Amino acid sequence: MSDQNAAKIGFVSLGCPKNLVDSERILTQLRAEGYSLSPSYEDADLVIVNTCGFIDAAVEESLDAIGEAIDANGRVIVTGCLGKRADEIRETHPRVLEVTGAHAYEEVMQAVHKHQPAPHDPFTSLVPPQGIKLTPKHYAYLKISEGCNHRCSFCIIPGLRGDLVSRPIGEVLTEAERLVESGVRELLVVSQDTSAYGVDLKYRMDIANGKPLDTRLRTLARELGQLPAWVRMHYVYPYPHVDDLIPMMAEGLILPYLDMPLQHGSESVLRAMKRPAATEKVLDRIKRWREMCPDLTLRSTFIVGFPGETEDDFDQLLEFVQEANLDRVGAFAYSPVEGATANDLPNQIPEEIKQDRLQRFMEIQAEISRNKLAGQVGREMIVLVDEVHDDHMIARGPGDAPEVDGQVIIHGGWDDVVPGDFIEVQVSGYDEHDLFAEPK
Ligand code: SF4
Repeated sequence: MSDQNAAKIGFVSLGCPKNLVDSERILTQLRAEGYSLSPSYEDADLVIVNTCGFIDAAVEESLDAIGEAIDANGRVIVTGCLGKRADEIRETHPRVLEVTGAHAYEEVMQAVHKHQPAPHDPFTSLVPPQGIKLTPKHYAYLKISEGCNHRCSFCIIPGLRGDLVSRPIGEVLTEAERLVESGVRELLVVSQDTSAYGVDLKYRMDIANGKPLDTRLRTLARELGQLPAWVRMHYVYPYPHVDDLIPMMAEGLILPYLDMPLQHGSESVLRAMKRPAATEKVLDRIKRWREMCPDLTLRSTFIVGFPGETEDDFDQLLEFVQEANLDRVGAFAYSPVEGATANDLPNQIPEEIKQDRLQRFMEIQAEISRNKLAGQVGREMIVLVDEVHDDHMIARGPGDAPEVDGQVIIHGGWDDVVPGDFIEVQVSGYDEHDLFAEPK
């Protein structure tokens, strides 16, 4: 179910399969940023026309499509091959908002942001706030479902987006293949609740590449693992069937990385949050996973100062994070969201106590994280290059998700390395968040 309030974009794709790949790329980015797609011009806030200019007939068809969109909607961005002839387009259709060329999806997205911004809502967006800037060409978010069947008391997503609606596996795999064909080297699997993928469809069979596949997380992970790209799993809750993913990580099929928003370590706070409260089981599971896949990187987020959180609950949270020894942690002081049921809970925590607890939490986690990074020194690893500068490169290892985790900073620059390349490095040092490395 899509968000009724999201900005709606209409899309017309003309031309060859290459153009279709570009269209897919733009549509994926639009969806990941929270835009919804409109099947009609009239309902759209903005229309993108991806044109073809290969032969005269295609030029004519493209100009006609632009004209039709302008008549019906009025707010049109033009991209694709005909974009090279911007003057001609503007001459025929002076009202077009922007014109960009072929394969210029980053410019298209900038144009969309300019004319129809998608306000970032930290409570509903799957993409981190910094993610509103475009993902570089070599990684992309792959959204596998919308909505959520849980009813966490601090969250309004189910109210906004409705219950879980999974995308059939064939559709997700086709999108993933197109992304990889268009140069993506890392797929970031996102949803509100990745572990629940397929539950709503009763794990229905679908056909992908001519073979029947069930719409289920482990099947999806195995199939994505066949693509020549890193596959990173986000928003995975530690349900028993997540155990099935760990051998795939140990085999190198998908990245040994799990982002699990655990939110707290005290069972009574978890109950007040209306979340599964089996803290001991989570710790056992994490221990077993690490035995099966020692390179596993675990990321989580926690909320401190939730209504009713006592000093004892907070101590349990600190014990939990120390025992779980998580690699990457984000923490937030609880703040009420309009419409969330947690707003009505008794014993709201005063702001200064929340901030004090947040600081104590972060100090403990910083220590854990430093030890974790120190343990990496001397290791050899494959990294994915994000940026190339004159005297250094910025890359990420298997344990670093873009935007939210650390980076690997490599001394030296090479003429023949470009963003999106995988290279081998040896870790030589670390600071609070990042690793330093030398090329091998
Ligand atoms: S699992 Fe909880 S926090 Fe996450 S989207 Fe669903 S209701 Fe919200």
